[in-house]
Amino acid sequence: MRFQGSAFPPNSSVRHAAELDASSSTSLCIVTEEETVYCEVAWVEVSAPVGNLPIRFKFADGWMFVADRTPQINEWLKRNKRSSFVEKMETKRFAWLLSVVCCIGVIVGSYVYLLPWLSEKVAHAVPDTVAVALGDKVLASLDEHWAPSELSTLDQEQIRTRVSHYLSQIEPLPYSVDIVFRSSEMGANAFALPGGKIVVLDQMVKLAANEQQLDSIILHELGHVHHRHMLKRLVHSSILSVGVSLLTGENSGVIDNMAGVGVFLLSNGHSREAEMEADEYAKHNMRVIYGSSEAMAEMFERFSQQEEFAIPEWLNSHPDFDERIEAARN
Ligand SMILES: [Zn+2]
Repeated sequence: MRFQGSAFPPNSSVRHAAELDASSSTSLCIVTEEETVYCEVAWVEVSAPVGNLPIRFKFADGWMFVADRTPQINEWLKRNKRSSFVEKMETKRFAWLLSVVCCIGVIVGSYVYLLPWLSEKVAHAVPDTVAVALGDKVLASLDEHWAPSELSTLDQEQIRTRVSHYLSQIEPLPYSVDIVFRSSEMGANAFALPGGKIVVLDQMVKLAANEQQLDSIILHELGHVHHRHMLKRLVHSSILSVGVSLLTGENSGVIDNMAGVGVFLLSNGHSREAEMEADEYAKHNMRVIYGSSEAMAEMFERFSQQEEFAIPEWLNSHPDFDERIEAARN
C-alpha cells in the first residue's frame, strides 16, 4: 500500500514529490527520487484526522510526509488505531469524566473517613503544652468580648475546690483542668477550650439552683475535655483549611487564624454526636459522684424554662432538648 503526497526533509520547507510505503505493518517508508527513509510505525507522529485536512506523518528523524485524505489512508489510520478526532475526544471525555468522578470520590472519601480519623490521631498527638497554649489563645480572643467575673474569689475557689475533689474520684482526664469564670451578656453558658480550660459564665452559676446542677454542666464540659472535642474540631478545621488552600492556592493566614477558628467553632457549638458524648460522660459521672443524674435533668429543664434568645453551647441541639432531658434521667 502506497500513498501519494509530499515529503519535507528535517528542518526544511523544500517540498519533494514522494510516496509513503505503508505495506509493512511495523514500519513506514518515505520514498523520494533521491532518498528512502524508514521509521517504525510506533515512532511516527500522525496528525489527528480532522475533516478533510491532509494527514501529516512525522518521522522520528524529522522527515515529514503530507498526503490528502483518501479511502486508503483512512483504512490505514483505522487499522493503526489512529481514530478520528471526534472519537479521540469521546475517549478523552470518558477519561476526563472518570477522573472527575474519581477525584470527587477521593475528596468525599477523605472528608468522610480520612479527615475524622486523621483529626483524632493528630488531636491525640498534639503535645499538652500546645493544646494549653491554644486554649489560652482562644480565651484571649473571647476576653475581648467578655467581662471579668463578678463572683467573689471565695465563691470561685469553692467551685474549683469541689471540682478538683470529685476529679480525684473519676477517670483521669487528658489535661489538668483549669476552671475560669467570666461574665457575658450572652447569658448562662459554659465552654470547654482546648487543653482542659473550662470557662463558666457567672450567669450559669446564677441559673443553677444548687451545686449538683452546676456540676452537671461542668461535668458536661469535662466530657468535651475527656473526648478532646475542641482540639479535634480545631485540627479538623485546620486540616480542612490547609486542604482547601492546597486545592485553591489561597493560603493567607491558615495558621494565624487558629484562635479565630476556635472562637467561631465555640459560637457554633459542637456536633450533635459530641453533645451526646458529653451528656453521656456527665450522666455517668454524676452517678459516680452523687449517685444520681437527676440534677442534670433538672438543670436542662431549668434552662428550657428560661426565655433566652441565645441557645447555650451545652444545649446546642435544641430540637433534641426533651430527648436530652429524658436521656439524663434514664
Ligand atoms: Zn457541650
